[in-house]
Amino acid sequence: MHCWTDTDQSLLLELLATDTVTPMESDSLGNLAHAQSVYADHAKRIGFEVDYFAPPAASILEEPDVPSSVREKAGLFGAKFFDAQPNLVLRMGNHPAHRTLLFNFHMDTVAGFEPVLLRDGKIYGRGAADAKGLGVAVLMAVRRALQLHPGLGDGIGLIIQSVGGEEGGAMGVYGTRLLAAKSCYGRLNVVCEPTDFAYFDRTTSAMTARIAVQGEGSTDDEPAQGQNATILLAAITDMLTREISPAVFNMGAKMCIGGLHTGTMHNRVYGSGCLLLNFAYPSLEIARELEALVENAFTNAVERFQNEYARYAAARAAAAAARDICSLTWVKRRLPVLANRDCSMENLLAGIGIPRHDGNSSTMPFSCDAMWLQGPDRFTIVFGPGHLGRNKTHAVGEFMDLADLDLYAHQLSRLILAFADHVS
Ligand SMILES: [Zn+2]
Repeated sequence: MHCWTDTDQSLLLELLATDTVTPMESDSLGNLAHAQSVYADHAKRIGFEVDYFAPPAASILEEPDVPSSVREKAGLFGAKFFDAQPNLVLRMGNHPAHRTLLFNFHMDTVAGFEPVLLRDGKIYGRGAADAKGLGVAVLMAVRRALQLHPGLGDGIGLIIQSVGGEEGGAMGVYGTRLLAAKSCYGRLNVVCEPTDFAYFDRTTSAMTARIAVQGEGSTDDEPAQGQNATILLAAITDMLTREISPAVFNMGAKMCIGGLHTGTMHNRVYGSGCLLLNFAYPSLEIARELEALVENAFTNAVERFQNEYARYAAARAAAAAARDICSLTWVKRRLPVLANRDCSMENLLAGIGIPRHDGNSSTMPFSCDAMWLQGPDRFTIVFGPGHLGRNKTHAVGEFMDLADLDLYAHQLSRLILAFADHVS
């Protein structure tokens, strides 16, 4: 029997057509609130109540570990920044956390509009796999579980968190972290992300370095006058790639050389610019090692630039000033990772045929905001259909197979019923 109905299809099509690109990656605020209301309306039809629907308070900016990019964006947009990104909590059955099963998915997406269409059993659109499609499957699952067990809400609590602030480097600080801090969690917390139908009980987290140059530029008629940020940042990029990227990968971490920006003209020496580096790490211990590695390598690179580039007229001014005009700051760092085990919940999952990604799995753990839901007496997993790479999340052509959404909804409905059995 299929879970997928015309209603689910029209809900997902509407969510995909609604611009919920995170303002972290856009100049516009988007329509997250509208998408949340549409989702809430559908959830109410199957028996959920809206427990919480509110934008984050601006006071979140005073909390520790808020990425500096969030502060900068909030400063740019003003009060509208948070107003436009409400979080939604839906609840069925009011029970304490130890009798509650929670699903969390993010409604915000990365930038890059993708045409919404249905073709050959696949649904295309930004967020189809990451993670609007999965959010719709949660409703399908609850509906199916209720068909099989109509009194479900009497025995267990079900919570759905539909959050913003997951993408764009916000790391859940004004979405999932905020809800978890309000004691919104269950005995088992399922964070819906594409994990190829096996669950992770661990995630990586990410730290971002910004290497900035703030020097004097010049015209192309006097190229030797300018402190050439393009040459300096390109040289640093080259040195860091060769010197630390092998070590980073050997530590079990990932290094992404992100954007390098100075300017776009052919006839100017740009005296300022920046380079962004992102590092994903599997534990806070490794994060600390990474921090030292990167800071050392940066200091060495600047020193080498000073020595090796002074002989080139085009780079001389930048070389002379490199130590003064080039700096490294951390946009974000020291954020926790998810790492938890739980015998009884692992048995429950295994019993209904949901496998665990172990160290031998070809799919590697990744960063999301699941770590905020971990804590004593609960188990938090990341679990969903599809694959970050194969389903082209964050890329052109993002899609989700309808058959995969259907299978996922079936698995979640079995999980809901098994959880109800377990706690009764
Ligand atoms: Zn994503």
